[in-house]
Amino acid sequence: MIFPGLKKLRNQLGFKDNGTICYGFVKNSFFSFADGRNIKLLCIRTPEVLDDEDKEKIKTWEKKGYASQVSFSENPSRYVEITFPEKFWPFKVSKIKEVIEDIANYIANKYPNSEVKCSYCDNAASSDVKVRVYEMNGEPMPLCEACASQIQKGLNEEKENLDRQPDNYLRGAATGAIFSIPGILASVFFFALGKIAGVTGLVYYALALKGYSWAKGKLDKTGIVIVSIISLVFSILGTYVGYAIDIARQLADNPDFCEDSFIERFSVSFDIMEIPEVHTELNKNLAVTLIVCGICIAVQMYNIWRALPTSKVKKLD
Ligand SMILES: [Zn+2]
Repeated sequence: MIFPGLKKLRNQLGFKDNGTICYGFVKNSFFSFADGRNIKLLCIRTPEVLDDEDKEKIKTWEKKGYASQVSFSENPSRYVEITFPEKFWPFKVSKIKEVIEDIANYIANKYPNSEVKCSYCDNAASSDVKVRVYEMNGEPMPLCEACASQIQKGLNEEKENLDRQPDNYLRGAATGAIFSIPGILASVFFFALGKIAGVTGLVYYALALKGYSWAKGKLDKTGIVIVSIISLVFSILGTYVGYAIDIARQLADNPDFCEDSFIERFSVSFDIMEIPEVHTELNKNLAVTLIVCGICIAVQMYNIWRALPTSKVKKLD
């Protein structure tokens, strides 16, 4: 998401954006900037490899207290990242504009006849090489046509390889479920402590994922759905059974039941769970466990989804 400050800066500079990152050329350098978590990030691709003098010059923005960090890529050092901190309120975009213009002017003065190169092969634009702005993995960058199509080919192959892998969905699901059974012990443990057993949602998710991966279940979108269903089912089942075991354990101290076997007390505990107060307590536990499990699923899904090789190289202008 681009916040209003950067949108304003984008308009002032005549830049474009791809929904998350603003990008464009100022003189002969390529700039892109985005909002991060408590930071703003400015990336610069310069037409020439930066020497020590250039680095020193760009580093001054750190010394002036504008940037919290200035880092340069190695070999070739033609890429700079500048981090602007946001402590209490947004970092002033006018200051970022000042930095962009200063660096663009400096580079244009020092390397007046140079153009931004392809970010991959370092070829400059020529009659044979066309360098354009592409989006790769969501990041806008200058690429030549040859590199763009080669990278896309590589990504396609990676995706095909993943598609060819056996999926093992059934085996993964069964193993995930078996691995989840010991999670019930965690439920019993937390009930015994008199705590809300919500954290067990995380335990069930971790176990289901472990079992599924152990059985070499393919962790694609279907795989994530399978693991999610197992962990949700076990969150419910495990909380029920865990609660019943805990009640059965407590009944051992009750004179009416202390003579009974554990199995007998265990079956009685399901009747006890019908008592309204007990039922409310159980539902509260169920809700928290499911929420925790749901959060784990959402976070994990997001991470795995992002890592799936569905990324594309897309021409932006
Ligand atoms: Zn290239």
